[in-house]
Amino acid sequence: MKKKQLEQFDKQLRAWKEELVHEATKTVDGMHEEKAQFADPTDRASMETDRNFLLRIRDRERRLISKIDKALERIGDGSFGVCDECGEDIETKRLKARPVATLCIHCKTLQEEEERLNKK
Ligand SMILES: [Zn+2]
Repeated sequence: MKKKQLEQFDKQLRAWKEELVHEATKTVDGMHEEKAQFADPTDRASMETDRNFLLRIRDRERRLISKIDKALERIGDGSFGVCDECGEDIETKRLKARPVATLCIHCKTLQEEEERLNKK
């Protein structure tokens, strides 16, 4: 991949990560505010549910952030844009839509197919 293109992905990934970190921080702040607001047990119960929901989102965000970090590492060591499975270049179009992708569309499709079969 061209250096200029890599730089663009680097920028895109960093901006995405920043956004996620910002969102995650906002979620945590919101949780603290809620805690102060609700005192009676009924509200607390529904608050717990909300909190579990928020924690799940944060977990997803956390996982995404670690994927972004890995993609940034791959940019650093020159393996970005190469499929983990077959070693072929991942389609630029695919990377633009999903810069954290580590598989080319062909391997990804196979993987999904396998996952689907294993679930049965
Ligand atoms: Zn592949």
